[in-house]
Amino acid sequence: SVCLHCLTLWERTLIAVKPDGVHRRLVGQIIQRFEQRGFKLVGLKMLKVPEDLLTQHYCQLRSKPFFPRLLEYMSSGPVVAMVWEGHKVVQASRVMVGHTNPAEAQAGTVRGDFSVLIIYRNVVHASDSLEGAQREIQLWFTGKELVNWDCCDQSFTCEL
Ligand code: UDP
Repeated sequence: SVCLHCLTLWERTLIAVKPDGVHRRLVGQIIQRFEQRGFKLVGLKMLKVPEDLLTQHYCQLRSKPFFPRLLEYMSSGPVVAMVWEGHKVVQASRVMVGHTNPAEAQAGTVRGDFSVLIIYRNVVHASDSLEGAQREIQLWFTGKELVNWDCCDQSFTCEL
C-alpha cells in the first residue's frame, strides 16, 4: 500500500518470535521495539507451527546439515508470528534483529541483546527480502487475518 502522508510504498514483513523467545518471555520486549520504531502491527497470532508450514517456510535450507535440528527447534514450543508494516520495514527489521549467529550480533539488536552462542536458537525470525516477506506472509497468514487500519500517529512516523 502507499502511505497517504509521504506517498512512499509501505512494505510488510513477517516477524516471528521463535520458541526460545516465547519460553523466555521476550515477546513483549520484541513487540515494543517494533512499536517504538514506528512500525504498524497488522497481524498477530500464536501457534505451534505445523511441520509442513516449517518445511515450506525454510524450503531454501532443506539441503543444509542443520535443517533437521532447525525443524526440531522450531517445533519445540509455540511461536508468535506477526506482520509489521511501514517504510522500508523489511531491511529495517533485519537490522533490528541482527546477525543470524548470536555470537556475532551487535548489541542493540534483538539477537545481540537477548541471545548468545547457539546459532539456531536466535530468538526471532525476520524476512530477508521484499519477495521473501510476501511469500512468507502468504504462507503464515490468510488475507482475513491481516488488518488494514490507519494508525493515528501516521503523520508523525512518516517522512513528511
Ligand atoms: N541456522 C542454524 N545454523 C546455521 C544457520 C542457520 O541453525 O548455521 C538456523 C537459525 O535459526 C536461522 C535459521 O536457521 O535463524 C534460518 O537461517 P537463515 O540463514 O535464513 O538466517 P536468518 O535469516 O534467520 O538470519
